Amino acid sequence: MSSPSTFDINRERMIEEQLAPRGITAPRVLEAMRTVPRHLFVEDAIRAQAYGDFPLPIGSGQTISQPYIVALMTQALQLAGTEKVLEIGTGSGYQAAILSRLCLKVYTVERLDALVGRARKVFDRLRYYNIISRIDDGTIGWPAEAPFDGIIVTAGGPRIPEPLIAQLADPGRLVMPVGGQDVQELQVVDKRDGDITLTTIERVRFVDLIGAHAWPPPPPQPAG
Ligand code: SAH
Repeated sequence: MSSPSTFDINRERMIEEQLAPRGITAPRVLEAMRTVPRHLFVEDAIRAQAYGDFPLPIGSGQTISQPYIVALMTQALQLAGTEKVLEIGTGSGYQAAILSRLCLKVYTVERLDALVGRARKVFDRLRYYNIISRIDDGTIGWPAEAPFDGIIVTAGGPRIPEPLIAQLADPGRLVMPVGGQDVQELQVVDKRDGDITLTTIERVRFVDLIGAHAWPPPPPQPAG
């Protein structure tokens, strides 16, 4: 075996310093965070910062979440390995990659086509073949593939889009940042025996969820 790279060492430190001490204890989640090469999901120029305790820009005004937040949201889904999971907001593809190690199949939706193309290349390079992606407004869900055992929304909206609640299986779990455009709280929806339980787990800052059941699109930028 080859000796560990700086990336491997930084990834291990990320687990020990950022995740384990903050309550990420699910062994399968920690293993996925230990396995997926986060540095491949960011541009070359910022690769050295890939394992830092902060979000990073991924182009088009979007960000890849801080590792702790990715782990926290993943842990909240309590995946056993047999689930179909829907992600809204593919972005870099990193969150989808983590999920793909923990469930049967990941369906991920992104509204900006520039980002999807890049994410798909990384999935292919890593041979993460159980991720299916499409370009669309994810606030309407993915009706043709519903229901989903888990749904994760990685952009912040004013409320949980109703189609996503409808497309959540019973039993099923959904996690999403809900609130204003500056700050939100992570909400977990637990659907079981026809009942819905809502819990709040953390204050967070996400980029906007833009779509029919979320914030309206920003006005077009003037040319030049
Ligand atoms: N999960 C991503 C984080 C991406 S940031 C990662 O691991 O890198 C949030 C993403 O949500 C952005 O790429 C943004 O374009 C996307 N987004 C916002 N509104 C959306 C919508 N209605 N449908 C699909 N994607 C959306």
